[in-house]
Amino acid sequence: MTHAAARVAAGFVAALLSCAALSFAAPPAAAAETAHAPSKNSPISSVSSVDTIVTAGWVLTMDGSDRVFSPGAVAIAGGRILAVGKESELLSRYLPKQRISRPHSVVLPGLINTHTHAAMSLFRGIADDLPLMEWLTKFIFPAEAKNVSPAFVKAGTTLACLEMIRGGTTTFADMYYFESDVAEAVNACGLRGVLGETWLDFPVPDHKDLAEAEKVTRAFLEKWKGHPRITAAVAPHAPYTCSKETLQAAKALADEFHAPLLIHLSETRDEQKQIGDKYGTTPAKWLDAIGFLGPSVLAAHCVWCDADDFRLLASKRVGLSHNPESNMKLASGILNVVAARQAGLAVGLGTDGVAGSNNDHDMWEAMDFAGKLAKVSTMDPTALPARDLLRMATIEGARAMKMDDRIGSLETDKRADLVAVDLSGARTRPLWDVFSTLVYAVKEGDVSLTMVEGRVLWDGRSVRTINAAKTLREAEEWRRKIAASLSEPVSK
Ligand SMILES: [Zn+2]
Repeated sequence: MTHAAARVAAGFVAALLSCAALSFAAPPAAAAETAHAPSKNSPISSVSSVDTIVTAGWVLTMDGSDRVFSPGAVAIAGGRILAVGKESELLSRYLPKQRISRPHSVVLPGLINTHTHAAMSLFRGIADDLPLMEWLTKFIFPAEAKNVSPAFVKAGTTLACLEMIRGGTTTFADMYYFESDVAEAVNACGLRGVLGETWLDFPVPDHKDLAEAEKVTRAFLEKWKGHPRITAAVAPHAPYTCSKETLQAAKALADEFHAPLLIHLSETRDEQKQIGDKYGTTPAKWLDAIGFLGPSVLAAHCVWCDADDFRLLASKRVGLSHNPESNMKLASGILNVVAARQAGLAVGLGTDGVAGSNNDHDMWEAMDFAGKLAKVSTMDPTALPARDLLRMATIEGARAMKMDDRIGSLETDKRADLVAVDLSGARTRPLWDVFSTLVYAVKEGDVSLTMVEGRVLWDGRSVRTINAAKTLREAEEWRRKIAASLSEPVSK
């Protein structure tokens, strides 16, 4: 039996024991949120007041030992996790102002989408099933040139946030234009974002050259400095679309603000060839040669990285975002995710933009696809088991983004970013292994609660921070505007 298979078997037995002990003894009450007033008989003096206690059939911590409490609870005050443990224990220690009960759900850390272009949601389905360059030059670049504005990115980002909140994503990394307006939309809906203003060596909607890119991005970094949920970042698009001068300027600006650097890296074979022809090396080694690599870098894709590249990226503590659905849909190739993780890289999962690369922000699908792609590409069904996939969507994604001191697991003193997933449906019963059920069976429609910084964004009935009807109506209005703009000649 391989090491991986042994771990799967051990996990199976542990989950079985856990479920056997606790099973579905949780009360069959409907999901509820109640305001709690202290009862006359409560021993007030021995308990602490907290903002919220979330109770659930199961609480998956995703901490260093993957502790599971069943039934479990999370106590929250000031947006911070005060304690995680058994439901009975926490209810005896804390008196909540609000109790959120999800007896048939599993509570786990909010999912972390390590790579997308949220505003491009307005281009979802504009053109599919095309080669990347044809898709870009015939549809995306003309549509962007004609339409991308502060109003566009706010509408598109809000649409993406509505989808992500409903589906259980609590943090995402973004690369686009007018990123300060993206930040306004993300802030308004309550999500956490690492938002990168994108630089290219040709004019884009909000800056025409490097000097303007630096000016716009500096103002963006200054404006959001110190925000609790918004992290402003610098996002040079890729080694093949940014010169040495651009990449080094982006790195210098990010260093000055201690900001993350987001970049696409080794996404296609064509990129590998272009960089090889131009610089005589791989994109990863080229970035290292010009002093770009370091812990602040989050690199998306790395499909064509070789073993030396992985070792190099790991030695520089670069985070990696794996986007299996995008890589499959655009036929970019297959990341050797097992080798990347064995080299010591923290590998998170991403959806990539939904305009043609995916076409949704569903992180449950990202886990499922990443697992199955790793298995079929290695002809090894033990590759990348469910527990590892759930780690990649939570704590390992946080490590890739250097945010694991704040998010990614349910532990005391971390921010209260969590989701609940209803397991009472036919798709999720019987429950043998909660990790396997979450990764291979759950769909985003099963998410019954989404919370960021202790604030409920999705309560199982509505997204509280977004006017859904208005957002969907505006998306259709934008589709009409974009379609009309594409029937006109495209100015260069
Ligand atoms: Zn991308």
